[in-house]
Amino acid sequence: MLLDLYIYPHPVLSRVADPVDAFDEALSKLVADMTETMYEGCGVGLAAPQIGVSRQIFIVDTSAESEQPSLRAYINPKIILKDSPVVWNEGCLSLPGLYRDVHSFGHVVIEAQDVHGEVFREEAHELRAVAILHEYGHLQGHVFLDRLSPIKQRLARKFWAKNSRREAQKLYGETALHCVFTDAPERT
Ligand SMILES: [Zn+2]
Repeated sequence: MLLDLYIYPHPVLSRVADPVDAFDEALSKLVADMTETMYEGCGVGLAAPQIGVSRQIFIVDTSAESEQPSLRAYINPKIILKDSPVVWNEGCLSLPGLYRDVHSFGHVVIEAQDVHGEVFREEAHELRAVAILHEYGHLQGHVFLDRLSPIKQRLARKFWAKNSRREAQKLYGETALHCVFTDAPERT
């Protein structure tokens, strides 16, 4: 089932997400629905706050079409290590159509639980490391705009305040995705 996408600056995107304690059917269903939603939006990652759920869950699939899928769900994640600073042109399903060069890291070690509660550790590089840190940031209430310099941030926010609805329509108008803007209530 496709889920509604919460568009920045909805307040759910600025809050620290709560840990997950129930590894049940509802969690598996939520992750499956998040996956469908991410693919519909052509994203490489999606975090639960982006679908209005303030929980420590995100998914990433950085495989190109020709590769094996690399989809994984990360629940209650912890960043164990990050190094190799990079500048990356990032975008976000909650800021559709907006891309900016921001600082990130090209090497990450993350520990998280899967949908069954099993703990795993993953070492990631390049795009996958950047995507993991981007989604992890959502669980801390951050978006990639927060990593711009103050001047660039001001400009980007001004642009977004004026154009978010138009940009969302441009990017998602042809898809089955429905967007939720700042004035709407959160999912429960
Ligand atoms: Zn994002």
